[in-house]
Formats: sequence, structure tokens, C-alpha cells
Amino acid sequence: MQHLADVEVYSVRTLREALELLSSVKGLRVIAGGTDLIVQLKTGVVPKTNLLDVSRVDELRYVRFEDGILRIGALTTFMEIYRSELVRRHAPLLAEAAFTVGSFQIMNKGTIGGNIVNASPAADSLPPLYVLNAELKIVGPRGERFVRIQDFYKGYKKLDLMADELVAEVRIRPPGEGYVGHFFKHGLRRGDAIAVVNGAVLLMLSPEGIVRDARVALGAVAPTVVRSPSSERVLVGSRLSPEVMWRAAEAVVNDISPIDDVRGSAAYRRELSVNYVFMTLYRIARETGVVA
Ligand SMILES: Cc1cc2nc3c(=O)[nH]c(=O)nc-3n(C[C@H](O)[C@H](O)[C@H](O)COP(=O)(O)OP(=O)(O)OC[C@H]3O[C@@H](n4cnc5c(N)ncnc54)[C@H](O)[C@@H]3O)c2cc1C
Repeated sequence: MQHLADVEVYSVRTLREALELLSSVKGLRVIAGGTDLIVQLKTGVVPKTNLLDVSRVDELRYVRFEDGILRIGALTTFMEIYRSELVRRHAPLLAEAAFTVGSFQIMNKGTIGGNIVNASPAADSLPPLYVLNAELKIVGPRGERFVRIQDFYKGYKKLDLMADELVAEVRIRPPGEGYVGHFFKHGLRRGDAIAVVNGAVLLMLSPEGIVRDARVALGAVAPTVVRSPSSERVLVGSRLSPEVMWRAAEAVVNDISPIDDVRGSAAYRRELSVNYVFMTLYRIARETGVVA
């Protein structure tokens, strides 16, 4: 266990101050809620380093809907996301996922920016963000830039983010009329559990129950969260019958590469993925009246 008594913490109140310090002080690491980073520092998973505490940069904590885009500041906590009327209206899958992040204590401290940058393949916000085609606003000394969530991850914990940059905002264009979706998660217990497998399914259905658009994402089954094009191909253009739902669920195994670890074997994860995608498709089919 590493002792952190000699770690220096720089506290800032504005984004400008944060960016200035990140550019001028070498080796600073951003800390937001600290729910990932403190554990990683104490256990030595992350080498001991001085910290830039951004938790009081209030200009990065908000949920807004402007110009047809849902904008979530990086410091917004999962409790704030879960409670937000705007998130529930425009990105209900994300509200569903937010409610499963740890305990209420973790939901109160853990931020969406921290969840994204920590880059765990099991992070609960990510499957919803993948199917919602979310975009990240990244700010740094060279200005701001925008990156699609799936392009942000280059491999296991490899990010399109420089040491002097911050994730500032998550942007979601609501998918619009006719889209229905859900988040799913399997943990080893009912609460406060990291996912063995998680995921999200978002479908656009015609009034006759034909799938016009399908987006399926899975977490904890590959080095990064993945979409399942094989499953999506089975769904698009088909009626959401039980047979199609099974074929689509079984197709996810083509797009995942799970490993054995403390939470479950690769074989168990494959089986969970198929079953949860089927159950989520079935849930959508029932809610929309496609199956009785
Ligand atoms: C008991 C427990 C249960 C948990 N359960 C879950 C769970 O069920 N689901 C889940 O997904 N996670 C879970 N977590 C993990 C964690 O709570 C989340 O990932 C949380 O969202 C991290 O946010 P944070 O603000 O605490 O990040 P921090 O720990 O402050 O930071 C995490 C990483 O992100 C970087 N960072 C933070 N904000 C920014 C930013 N704006 N720009 C650039 N870099 C940034 C930091 O430098 C660090 O590398 C759990 C953790 C604990 C301790």
C-alpha cells in the first residue's frame, strides 16, 4: 500500500487555471471524484504523482440541452445524471446506467469524465455513450477539439488525450422519434458491483415492428467497449421476432474477445452477453408491442 502523505495537491476553481497548471507543472495528474484514482494510487496500480484537483471547477458541472444537443459537463456526478430530467428525456439509457454505478456514495462522488478517462472496459457509462454516438469535447492549450467516443479509445487504457488536455464535456444528439433502448449489467451481486458484462441496445422500429436502425454495444468483453456489427446486421430490416432476436443475440460472440479474470471466465462472459442481448431485445419488443 502506497502512502500518499507527501503527494502535493493543486486545487483550482476555473478551467483556465487547470489548463495553465497542466501545461506548466510536469507530471500532474487530474483528480475529479477520486473514486478510481485514489484506489489506484494507494494500491500502486498508478505510480505516485502530484495531483490537480478539479473537483471544484463548477463550470464543468452541468446538464444542458442547447441547439438540439444534450451537453453534460465532465464533472457531473452519476447522481446528478441519474436525477436529471434532461438526461431521462433525451438519453434515458444513460440514466439507467448511472443508477448502477457503485453505491449512492460512489454515485455522489464519481463523475462521468472520470468514468470515461479511467477507461475501464467495464465502465457503465460507456455502452450507452457508444450506442448514442456521443462525442467528447476535449480542451487544452491548443484550443478545443471533438472526438467520437469510439475513436477516443485506441486500445486497453490507450486514449486520444494528451497529458495537458482535459475532457470537458460529453455531447449527445438525441436519436429522435421511434428509438427505444435499454442498458443492461450483470454483476456478482445486486448492488455496488463492477460489471462482469454490461451493454446497451438501441433500436429504431417501424410501426410494423421492422428494425430500421440497430445499435448494440457491450462492455467487459474486450480491451475496450465494442459495438456488435454482426448482431446489428441480423436486426436491421427484420421484424423483431423471437427467432431474429436469438440470431442477433448469438451473433454478438463474433465481435467480442472476453478474457478469464476474477469476476468470471471468458466462456461465462460469452454466455452472459448472448443472454443479456436477447433479454434486452425481448424487453424492447414487449414494450413496443411487437411481441405479446
Ligand atoms: C466501491 C467502488 C464501486 C464502483 N462501482 C462502479 C460501477 O459500478 N460502475 C462503474 O462504471 N464504475 C465504478 N467504480 C469506478 C468509479 O467510481 C467510476 O469510474 C467513476 O466514474 C470515476 O470518476 P471519478 O470522478 O471518481 O474519477 P477519478 O478517480 O477522479 O479519475 C479517474 C481517472 O480519470 C482522470 N480524469 C478524471 N476527470 C478527468 C477529466 N475531466 N479530464 C481528464 N482526465 C480526467 C483521472 O486523472 C484518472 O486517471 C467504482 C469505484 C469504487 C471505488
